[in-house]
Amino acid sequence: MALVVVGSVAYDGVETPHGKVDRMLGGAATYISLAASYFTPVKIVAVVGGDFAREDVDLLESRGIDLAGLERVPEGKTFFWAGVYSADMNDRTTLRTDLNVFADFQPKLPESYRQEPYLLLGNIQPALQKSVRAQMPALALAGGDTMNYWINDFRGELVETIGEWDFLLINDSEARLLSGQHNLRRAAACILEMGPRTLIVKRGEYGAVAFARDGGQVGHFMAPGYLLEDVFDPTGAGDSFAGGFIGYLAGQGIRPRGGELDFAELRRAVIYGSVMGSFCCEKFGVDRFRTLRREEIESRYREFQTCTAF
Ligand code: AMP
Repeated sequence: MALVVVGSVAYDGVETPHGKVDRMLGGAATYISLAASYFTPVKIVAVVGGDFAREDVDLLESRGIDLAGLERVPEGKTFFWAGVYSADMNDRTTLRTDLNVFADFQPKLPESYRQEPYLLLGNIQPALQKSVRAQMPALALAGGDTMNYWINDFRGELVETIGEWDFLLINDSEARLLSGQHNLRRAAACILEMGPRTLIVKRGEYGAVAFARDGGQVGHFMAPGYLLEDVFDPTGAGDSFAGGFIGYLAGQGIRPRGGELDFAELRRAVIYGSVMGSFCCEKFGVDRFRTLRREEIESRYREFQTCTAF
């Protein structure tokens, strides 16, 4: 039972206080897939240009990721994004977004993907996210991410799209923007009314909060961020969180009952998300995933348990 991941596969230029890399593998679908691959088989849907390097294909293949849905446009160029981080790395300024082949991305699901039960929709146009979901009739659990651009300029389309999802994963400023509520608890209650039964609000270095109906009431679970000694590059941390979150649920074969996820499993998934987000920040780009082992993930998961128990 595999997880289908849709989104950007990119080249990124990133500058943080620890250094600068002009061009390296990135993209939301890349981070989501790499993180999820530690828990469950992953099948990717994305588009790249003729410049997409063999070594980057090799990395994805080395993690067992199915690339049948990775479309190549030989005459085009891969999506390029560049950003620079503030001194405390909590803020990021986008310097460049060259959509290239991503501008005309029309996700096409290979026949071999369509019966899979798990789907994570990375940040792309809501109508495209909706079209992918419609191509998968056997879904047990589907959800995804979005960003301020779609919330501001495509609100109607977005609300219609997330209305069909089991969960929505967004950051705190996006939750406020989507709901029009500053208070996070009220924002969550408002978003849960839009359709998704579960909302995960990512709060960067401060962790994440999951909101869900738990016996009629809206319950919440708060996970802190892992206290890293050195954060080298936060790019992809949110996507790696998403990969750990859905990867864990898919790997366990979790299905919502009556639309609701088991709250104990939801808590575990949030912690695995935090664990994967934290590993991502330890090196530039996707580098940490070149060496990361499953035992390290379990050991950090246990550390989370000891440092939050009281
Ligand atoms: P995160 O740090 O989790 O927000 O993810 C950063 C990744 O998102 C980078 O690798 C970028 O290539 C990718 N990205 C940046 N802007 C966009 C966009 N407009 N659409 C899709 N992916 C993007």
